[in-house]
Amino acid sequence: MKTLALVVPCYNEQDVLPYFYDEISRVIAVLSEDYRTELVFVDDGSKDKTLPILKDLAMRDPAVKYISFSRNFGKEAAMLAGMDYAVHADYIGILDADLQHSPDLIPEMLRYITEEGYDVAAAKRSDREGEGKFKSFLSASFYKVINKISDIEISESAQDFRVMKQDVVRSILSMPENIRFSKGIFTWVGFNVKWIDHKNRERAAGNTKWSIRKLAKYAVDGILGYTTSPLRLSFSCGIFFFFCMLAALIYTLVRFCIDHTYNGTLPLVFAAVFFTGAVILCCLGILGEYLARVYTEVKDRPKYIIAQTNTLKNNILEKEF
Ligand code: UDP
Ligand code: MG
Repeated sequence: MKTLALVVPCYNEQDVLPYFYDEISRVIAVLSEDYRTELVFVDDGSKDKTLPILKDLAMRDPAVKYISFSRNFGKEAAMLAGMDYAVHADYIGILDADLQHSPDLIPEMLRYITEEGYDVAAAKRSDREGEGKFKSFLSASFYKVINKISDIEISESAQDFRVMKQDVVRSILSMPENIRFSKGIFTWVGFNVKWIDHKNRERAAGNTKWSIRKLAKYAVDGILGYTTSPLRLSFSCGIFFFFCMLAALIYTLVRFCIDHTYNGTLPLVFAAVFFTGAVILCCLGILGEYLARVYTEVKDRPKYIIAQTNTLKNNILEKEF
C-alpha cells in the first residue's frame, strides 16, 4: 500500500481545526483502500488552544501527528518542518488548516500523479473571491515585478496547496537556504507540474494570520531571494548619474568659456552633491539588504525549534508503514 502524508501548518487555528479534521477524515476514508495516510499538523507557536486540540486528536486517532514549535516561526518554517518529517511517505501533500484549500481536491491530485505521470499536482486559484481589493492589487504588482526581474516564473495564482512525489520533496529539502520563499522554491526545483483550477473558498473560521507587514517582508524575501538584478540596477544608476554629472560639468565649462562672467557653478555643485549622495545611499541600501541576507544565511541558525511532538523526526513513517 502506498503512503501519503498531509502536512498542515496551523497558527492559532482552534476555531477551524475541528471542522478541518472532520472534512479531511472523510477524504482519508475515501482514500483508505489505496493509501495509508498520516496527518502531520505543525503548530507554529500558537497562543490559543490549537496544541491541546491537536493532542486530543492524536490521542483518538493514531494517524494524527503533531509537531509544535517553541514560538511562531512562520508558515514557511511550518511547511518545512512538516516536509522534513513526512519525506518518507511516497506522496506528500500540503494544505492550509482553514479549509480555504478544499481537501476534496486531494484524490484528484493523487490521480494526476499516479495515473498521468505528473510529479506534482498543485492548485491554482481561479478567482480572488474573499480577498480585499487592495491585497489583490499588491499581490498582482508583486508577481509582475518578480517575474520581470528574476530568473524564475512564478504564477500569481499558484497556491501552496499541492501533492508531490517523494523525489520532489527531497529536492525541496536539499535547498539549504534559511530565508525560504516556498513559491520560488517550488518553481525552482522544476519537475512535471499539473495545475488544477481551484476556487478560492472563504476561511471556515478564525482570521487570516497575514498582516500587510508580514506580506511586505514575504515579498521582499521573494524578490531578493531569486534575483541579484537590484544590485545591477544600482550600478547602472551610478553610471547614469556619473554621466549626468559629466554633462553638467562640461556645460558649465563651455558657458564659462563663452561668457567669463557666468557663475553657474554653485547650483551645479549642489546638484552634483545631492545626486551622488542619493546614488550612494541607494546603492548602500540595496547592498545592505543583500548583506543582511548573507548574514542570516551564514549564521545558519535552525529554521525552527520543536518544543513538543508525538513523533520522532523523520522515522515514524518508515517504521509504521
Ligand atoms: N500559518 C502558520 N504560521 C503563520 C501564519 C499562518 O502556520 O505564521 C498557517 C495558518 O494557520 C494557515 C495557513 O498558514 O493554515 C495560511 O494562513 P492564513 O489562512 O492566515 O493565510 P491566508 O489564507 O489569509 O493567505
Ligand atoms: Mg487562509
